[in-house]
Amino acid sequence: MTASRSNKVDERLCYRRVLLKISGEALLGVGEYGVEFDTVRRIAQDVKSVHDLGVEICLVIGGGNIFRGISGATVGMERAGADYMGMLGTVINALAMQSALEGIGLDTRVLSAIPMETVCEPYIRRRAIRHMEKNRIVIFAAGTGNPFFTTDTAAALRAAEMNCDCLLKGTQVDGVYDKEPKSNSNAVRYDRLSYHHVLARDLQVMDAAAISLARENSIPILVFSIHNYGAFADVLKGRGKYTVIDGGD
Ligand code: UDP
Repeated sequence: MTASRSNKVDERLCYRRVLLKISGEALLGVGEYGVEFDTVRRIAQDVKSVHDLGVEICLVIGGGNIFRGISGATVGMERAGADYMGMLGTVINALAMQSALEGIGLDTRVLSAIPMETVCEPYIRRRAIRHMEKNRIVIFAAGTGNPFFTTDTAAALRAAEMNCDCLLKGTQVDGVYDKEPKSNSNAVRYDRLSYHHVLARDLQVMDAAAISLARENSIPILVFSIHNYGAFADVLKGRGKYTVIDGGD
């Protein structure tokens, strides 16, 4: 039996297993569509830094850089079909990230909620846990496998299924603000928020289904900037700028 990495976790960390959610937009780099491989490789390096600390990691990557179901519905497509296109986009992103991670020596598996056996493994919960125990980075593709959902909800769902200690959301900015920080110079960043506060004030950090799932399963959400080099590891060490969303006030 392969020993779990959990006994090698850096003792300063209180997180043994984490899920990182990245939006498809994060892979755009300076482009407007698709995948910029330099950006994917940079994010992969950050994932490696955390893996080197002994933390078990799984990833959910969105698909907004390729296709969003709502865009198809807007031009007359049936919403469910358009959402399946969006989910297929997340598989493309997952394969790009897998290539970048393997390129720097990490062992990975892509598990898709929509079975496509010639490309990757189907999602099986116990298998996913086993992969992580064997030091593999698991990338969950195709969201929840269901239309009318988002990859944020998929991230909260998988974090709960994998018994993750926290869900990290790597965004375009370094936390949750009271208003859009890019267009409001006086926007204030929160250090800590409750799930209730996020839902009641409709703060646009993750959709309500994802926040509710995290709340029901007491999974803290750590929101940070995916564009700050090294921020993923820093946040887990309690350093740098980020927002914690949990049951407190
Ligand atoms: N999607 C879906 N079900 C899921 C996850 C995703 O139907 O469980 C579709 C949906 O059309 C969505 C697209 O996949 O617009 C891309 O996901 P998302 O918008 O969450 O990506 P992100 O904004 O994180 O890049």
